[in-house]
Amino acid sequence: MSEGPAEGMGRRESVLQRSLALAEMLDIPTFTEVVKGFVELYQIGVKVFDEKGAKIADIKIGNGDFCGYVFSLSEGRALCTATVGRVKDGPVEAVLGARSPNVPAEGSPEAMVAMPCFTGLQYLVMPVLWEGDSVGRVVFGPFIPDDLQELPPSLTSLDPSFDREKALALMGKIRRAPEATVARVMKHFAQLLETMIAAGHKATLTSNMHIEATREHSRELEEKNQKLETMNTRLKELDRLKSSFLATVSHELRTPLTSIIGYSEMLAEGLAGPLNQEQVDYVRTIMEKGESLLKLISSILDISQIEAGKVRLNFESADIVEVVQSSISSLSPQAKKKGVALEVKLPGSPQPKVHADHDRLRQVVVNLLANAVKFTPKGGKVNLFLSEVSHQPELGGEGYRIIVEDSGVGIPTDQLDKIFQSFYQVDSSSTREFGGAGLGLSIVKSFVEGHGGSVKVTSEMGRGSRFTAVLPSLPPAPKSSVQVAPPSVPEPTGDRF
Ligand code: ADP
Repeated sequence: MSEGPAEGMGRRESVLQRSLALAEMLDIPTFTEVVKGFVELYQIGVKVFDEKGAKIADIKIGNGDFCGYVFSLSEGRALCTATVGRVKDGPVEAVLGARSPNVPAEGSPEAMVAMPCFTGLQYLVMPVLWEGDSVGRVVFGPFIPDDLQELPPSLTSLDPSFDREKALALMGKIRRAPEATVARVMKHFAQLLETMIAAGHKATLTSNMHIEATREHSRELEEKNQKLETMNTRLKELDRLKSSFLATVSHELRTPLTSIIGYSEMLAEGLAGPLNQEQVDYVRTIMEKGESLLKLISSILDISQIEAGKVRLNFESADIVEVVQSSISSLSPQAKKKGVALEVKLPGSPQPKVHADHDRLRQVVVNLLANAVKFTPKGGKVNLFLSEVSHQPELGGEGYRIIVEDSGVGIPTDQLDKIFQSFYQVDSSSTREFGGAGLGLSIVKSFVEGHGGSVKVTSEMGRGSRFTAVLPSLPPAPKSSVQVAPPSVPEPTGDRF
């Protein structure tokens, strides 16, 4: 795995590398129950500490009153505290008042020590070992060793007010047992503890490793996300550069092209002297090709400006009937030349003015008409309907519809939602022959949506297509810029045949 920045941000030590504390390896509630059971069964108190002296379990039995009494005697408190401190924190070795337990050699666990108390009572202390390390200690006691016959002077001479009878009575509640028996019970307890640690250790390792794996996984995901974000920013930047490059190039191409068209027109009209018929034909071809090239360059300029977010719609009072009629006039020569009937159906009554960007709306209608004429063979029909200004269900308000319908080649159903993407063309040899750059509909969609409207298409192969643009009479305030249809994410376009 690579050394990413996240590595420096304090990667945790794995659970496999660090040693676990006793409390982490035991299920404490279950363990406490086991200890309680042991204490009740053998009537001897059990304490378990971790290697730092923190108490893991502490179940007392029988000795409370006796110890309380001794603790109340002068000197008693200090001696008690010292004994408890030695048992809890002192070395688990036969030093500093501790000795090896009096048990038959084969029954004695190596590290167990006996800690006599000044009262005559006794503790047994044993380390908790795990994988060779001491991870804590177990303390059994206090109990009365069965060889204790007399109260020791270290207790009786503790205080002049020492009450022997009382002490003996309280001592009666404490279990008397041979040291060897307690040592055996303790050994048994140690085995049980070892089993519980082994199970707990395994469970802790498994769950911690699961957590670590999840954490590692999400860290990797985060890294990948960051990389994706960087790539995304870079792509956006490249896209912006591409749009800006296209805008500059098309702008720079337009100027000389306009001169080419202008001068060819002058030559064709004989302004620079008479031309023979062949020369006139050549010059007219230059002019026509120059005009198609100019249209293409203008579309590229439009789309790149839309993509660069540089297009702002300029809404003002507009006469939609005039917009539609002027679009028809600019397309009728083309339709006529191709032998396609172009018909327009306008609303009967005069229509109220609407708000729109006149030039962009005209471009929408021209593009739709140009496609309809382009993709309709000779003898076909193109109809344009303009509705009245009335309630439009799609908009939930006042608006109007412009429908351009043709009897042309049609669009395959699976391509209907792609044709509005920039540079997309239905890629079959029959449509490729019609030329174009796949930008017209993308511009239509951007401008219609910029008006707060929507455009949809229905089509049937071989029978024709029908494009419907629904626009509001009062478009919402223009956004900072018009959005272009993304090149690769298809958007649904509504009903189909
Ligand atoms: P183009 O410059 O190729 O016409 P458009 O964005 O205007 O670009 O259209 C994209 C594609 O959608 C066209 O190439 C064509 O395949 C299909 N298309 C658009 N309008 C029609 C139509 N009226 N009839 C059939 N196909 C159409």
